[in-house]
Amino acid sequence: MPQTEINKKVVILGSGPAGLTAAIYASRAQLEPLVIDGPQPGGQLTITTDVENYPGFASGIMGPELMNQFRAQAERFGTEILNVWIDSVDLSSRPFKLYGKESQESEEISTVILAETLIISTGASAKWLGVPGEEPVPVGLGGNGVSACATCDGFFFRGKDVVIVGGGDTAMEEAMFLTRFASKVPRFVPRLENYAGSGFRQRKNRDYVEHRH
Ligand SMILES: Cc1cc2nc3c(=O)[nH]c(=O)nc-3n(C[C@H](O)[C@H](O)[C@H](O)COP(=O)(O)OP(=O)(O)OC[C@H]3O[C@@H](n4cnc5c(N)ncnc54)[C@H](O)[C@@H]3O)c2cc1C
Repeated sequence: MPQTEINKKVVILGSGPAGLTAAIYASRAQLEPLVIDGPQPGGQLTITTDVENYPGFASGIMGPELMNQFRAQAERFGTEILNVWIDSVDLSSRPFKLYGKESQESEEISTVILAETLIISTGASAKWLGVPGEEPVPVGLGGNGVSACATCDGFFFRGKDVVIVGGGDTAMEEAMFLTRFASKVPRFVPRLENYAGSGFRQRKNRDYVEHRH
């Protein structure tokens, strides 16, 4: 397959809230940015339901709808959006080079993008367990009782019993946050080596969560 070559002043890698916010600013500054969508167009909020903590939405908004609005706002000022999966980048000299393919499985580089400026906003993704039922609704209970973010969803669990899967620092931080809402926050620790971990975790285990419950 012949490679497509694209030259851009500003390339934004990722189309989640960070990438599209950067795109709104860059396009309004007439920098004609190119946003690369990648494997999850719209980012992580596209797999959730109610988002209640974004200013400007007094009644909350569904995650996919919020990301459609981000996208429309960026496009309104001339942002271009391209769906390729970036396989590798060469940042050793300008212009930076990004090598894109059609999907993760594809072996061929289909697109080479040359960028004077590159904004990387590839986000993060939750480490799901891979058990039945954790997919987003309607397939599973994701967004309807199963969550990957305590600060996002803790409010929905007021007065409920909550189980946290994990034994690392993140699990401990989430547990601390959830103690404001949930009636009990038991933790399930899947691996012993996770549990031993950092001083932060050991101190918090002793001083906070065990003390509270
Ligand atoms: C189930 C769930 C519910 C949540 N609920 C809330 C909530 O209610 N409120 C809240 O504030 N936050 C919530 N969050 C957290 C919120 O979604 C993240 O903080 C936010 O999406 C991070 O935005 P981001 O733009 O940094 O990255 P992301 O949203 O992770 O976007 C990353 C982007 O990078 C792209 N990308 C990654 N790798 C490549 C690659 N190799 N090539 C090309 N593109 C690539 C992806 O396709 C994606 O477009 C929730 C998260 C989850 C998982």
